[in-house]
Amino acid sequence: MQKTIKISKPYIEEGKSNIFEKSVKLCADITMENPNNNKLETKKCYYEFEEKYKEYLCVTRSDAFVMGLLSSALETGNNIEFIAPISERLYYQLTTYYIPILSKYNATYPVYPIKLIGPHNNKEIQNEKKVATGCSGGIDSFYTILKNGQNCITKEHKLTHLVYSSSGTLDNVEQRMTSTFKNTYEEVKKLATDCHLDTIGCYNNLFEFYKFPYKAFNMFYTTTFGSVAFALQKLINIYYASAGETIESINFDLTKTDGHDSSVFDIFTLFCMNTENLSFYSSGMECSRIEREEYIADYLPMKKHLMICGVKYFCKEERKHLKNCSLCSKCLRTMTDFYAFGKLDSLKDVMDINNFLKHKTKYIGKMMGQQKISYVRDMKETAKKNNIKIPFGSYIYLWCWYLPIKKLRKIFKNSLLARKIYYKFDLDYKLDGYRGEKFEVYKDKVKSKRK
Ligand SMILES: [Zn+2]
Repeated sequence: MQKTIKISKPYIEEGKSNIFEKSVKLCADITMENPNNNKLETKKCYYEFEEKYKEYLCVTRSDAFVMGLLSSALETGNNIEFIAPISERLYYQLTTYYIPILSKYNATYPVYPIKLIGPHNNKEIQNEKKVATGCSGGIDSFYTILKNGQNCITKEHKLTHLVYSSSGTLDNVEQRMTSTFKNTYEEVKKLATDCHLDTIGCYNNLFEFYKFPYKAFNMFYTTTFGSVAFALQKLINIYYASAGETIESINFDLTKTDGHDSSVFDIFTLFCMNTENLSFYSSGMECSRIEREEYIADYLPMKKHLMICGVKYFCKEERKHLKNCSLCSKCLRTMTDFYAFGKLDSLKDVMDINNFLKHKTKYIGKMMGQQKISYVRDMKETAKKNNIKIPFGSYIYLWCWYLPIKKLRKIFKNSLLARKIYYKFDLDYKLDGYRGEKFEVYKDKVKSKRK
């Protein structure tokens, strides 16, 4: 018999929490085999908001929970069973297109042809017709904010809310996660104020229902991020998911996308997520990442609030005061791109551009060694167009240092002994300047070996 994830009727819980002073949670009890220890468990899954959003939480549908757990079910081969109905259009699109297509084209990746079992309903849910987008404070978010905010060409599509959610975490240490969430949420609120928008914070525990180190959670994340909009179906009727990639990268087989994640087919995923009262758009898919960067380069809130760093909280104390560590691959890629179109100065308040300029030759070589082919190609073409020279020394760094390191990392990726040596001699700090989230995976592996 095929395994099943069972979702109870959604319900609301109110009270204090360590996230918001007054909080409200949209909850459902989930019964499933825990993918991390294979034990059958019943656990509460929740989306937590500030209390003022209580009247907008949707308890009459299972949509949020089905979408939030969908990628876990696809990865582990669980059917999803629910008691409260899901939106009929959603049920049709997921069952007829999304699940069959994903499982067909990802044979080498663990995506199973699962079933959705439960009632569906086509009655429209009344809502406040607000327009929201997920906001991490990164390049893609600012592109969506500018394009659909002050530059929006129609009234009904004009952005009203920024959503910051904990979905898509790379971490599994709860204390660090809640503290990261609270700090970033405060930053997003300031950013939203400068963009004349409202903020919605959502802390959820979806990660507890995913296999660590979150392969599916972070590869097929559009449904988990979008699930927050389903939780607030009585408020939102348009939701922009900021595209990570351009439409030219579209491919359903993730083994053929040069390391890109499922956002390469966001246009398809988001089409499957549309319901009778909620429309999704892939904002930014019409241009490349470097074109998005150029579009926002003079936007004042971006200059003040850009947050792209993936590892700031893993950095040593001396770099934590910066908004972005200015050392990790995301930071280096962004600074190199801005350098390539002559606007590096726009980043001076959010990144250490002086350090970048001082070590420019090395860092550009590093960026070329770390990034996907398409990003490096776009950066080089843009530099050429703007008469900005890539130092020849950057290629020497690339060929003689960063590419061999990349190769060695690939070879020893799964060797516990190599990792032990790597961390014992602080080679991560010496090579990159920070200790990444992979250290947690290493610690988990060592622990499970000792047992
Ligand atoms: Zn960084």
